[in-house]
Amino acid sequence: MLGLMQDRPLALPHIFHRAEQFFGHKEIVTATWGGGEERTTIADWAVNVRRLATALDRLGISEDARVGTFSWNTAAHLELYMAAPCTGRVLHTLNIRLFPDQLTYIANHAEDEIIFVDRSLLGQLWPLTDKMPDVRHFVVIDDGCDDPVPDDPRVLNYAQLLAESEPFTGRFEVADENTAAAMCYTSGTTGNPKGVVYSHRSTVLHSLISLIADGPGLRETDVVMPIVPMFHANAWGLPYGCLLAGTSMVFPGPNMTPGAIVSLLEKHRVTATGGVPTIWMGVLPLLDDHDLSSLRVMLCGGSAAPKSLSEAFREKLGIPFLHAWGMTETSPIATMYSPRSHHAELTEDQRADIRARQGQSAPLVDLRLVDPDTGEDVPWDDVQTGEIQAAGPWIAKEYYKGEGGGAQFTEDGWLRTGDVAAADSYGFVRLVDRTKDLVKSGGEWISSVELENEIMAHPKVAEAAVIAIPHERWVERPVACVVVKPGESLTAEEVIEHLKPRVAKWWLPDAVEFIDEVPKTSVGKFSKKTLRDKFAGYKLPGS
Ligand code: AMP
Repeated sequence: MLGLMQDRPLALPHIFHRAEQFFGHKEIVTATWGGGEERTTIADWAVNVRRLATALDRLGISEDARVGTFSWNTAAHLELYMAAPCTGRVLHTLNIRLFPDQLTYIANHAEDEIIFVDRSLLGQLWPLTDKMPDVRHFVVIDDGCDDPVPDDPRVLNYAQLLAESEPFTGRFEVADENTAAAMCYTSGTTGNPKGVVYSHRSTVLHSLISLIADGPGLRETDVVMPIVPMFHANAWGLPYGCLLAGTSMVFPGPNMTPGAIVSLLEKHRVTATGGVPTIWMGVLPLLDDHDLSSLRVMLCGGSAAPKSLSEAFREKLGIPFLHAWGMTETSPIATMYSPRSHHAELTEDQRADIRARQGQSAPLVDLRLVDPDTGEDVPWDDVQTGEIQAAGPWIAKEYYKGEGGGAQFTEDGWLRTGDVAAADSYGFVRLVDRTKDLVKSGGEWISSVELENEIMAHPKVAEAAVIAIPHERWVERPVACVVVKPGESLTAEEVIEHLKPRVAKWWLPDAVEFIDEVPKTSVGKFSKKTLRDKFAGYKLPGS
């Protein structure tokens, strides 16, 4: 016997029309280049979404085209967040922190037909455009920066494009909720970046997570500032959550310095916000000079939120972090902390320990811990550890074009996260390690394998292994452990000089240590675990 409920698609047009109909009076503020601000309302934003829908048709962008963005967190970016998927197209947020080679790879792999780019970021994108043959238009969004705009037939102006396009007048419809809505490439794996493709259904369900009480609990009265980038895992779903709840919004735009962020939080009496630990480490020393008493929710994730940092905020502001864990492949929210009745008995210090955990799986997300050697489930006894595997309606089942992710998904359809954890009997997860050979610095990935290969390309290097070392500001930084060929001599400076033309500046190791041999596992692979144990307690210069 089947249920007799209406089968309506879970699709983003619902969020758009709800916001337009009920929350048109709510304000959206965007900080601009040079310290200015632009203010709009959800009503005016919605008109722009409708204009953009017509503009994409007028430009002949295909019905299911990938629409690229290369943008900061802004109201215009939010227009694209809706206009692309509500017209059946796929929003493709390009991560502005990736290297040129990765960016061209991603734009070409996704076959972006058009890229919307903030003027302050144009200088970064423009040199690559000739290597992106599918991209027919680059639409420049004015963000207050006066960098030159190339005189090229592919370049359009965003404001002008909107002004020349009549607003679409009907209701947006996406009949099949499994249609792709957005995509985001992850570099949190080895090899080429991989495309994660979100559906309307997954996005709508995930948006509800930011409204639940045992979570951010966004509500109409909130003023929300998503600091986590809109180009990295959908800004944790906050933009869609804000529209669904009808909150006011503040977008930090191009100026991501701690001073600018703290001023916006204070000035707009922001009540809920989210960012990676590095952002909060920058904000912490400024708290004494700013009144952030309006804050009631501080989401922190992307890297482990240290207990000391969370406690420092609790002491200053009276609210600790709402610690969350997830990944691009999990939309991204998979677990969250929230206080529970059984925590009431605990001391403040014990509660702080629990907050430093990654939390309990979000409703509708299933997790299991699996022993990587035996493939058996590990009991949730808070002692034994296993790789976290995840399943649920907003967890990826494969990568775009089925490429490169065979090993990342189990035969029974779970995602292998590469994170190793223990969980207590209440399901509060505690990450202890990861199988991914990567360093996460300031919320972005550095591939240890790529760094090693570049170092080993030096004629005097026999072997090199790169490990992550804890760092106060960036959470982790790479340290290179180098074995010099017999009879040769090499200095740390020479290794760094060798790397400079080969990798992005922020990838350069913070230190180079010379060792006699890279420890190996029984099957002859580099044993990073042994190396990490050897360098436990290592103090980085300047940390
Ligand atoms: P990304 O796909 O770039 O967002 O990276 C996801 C990865 O970041 C996860 O698999 C973890 O390794 C790491 N990560 C995310 N959130 C946390 C957290 N709260 N604590 C520790 N690591 C985290």
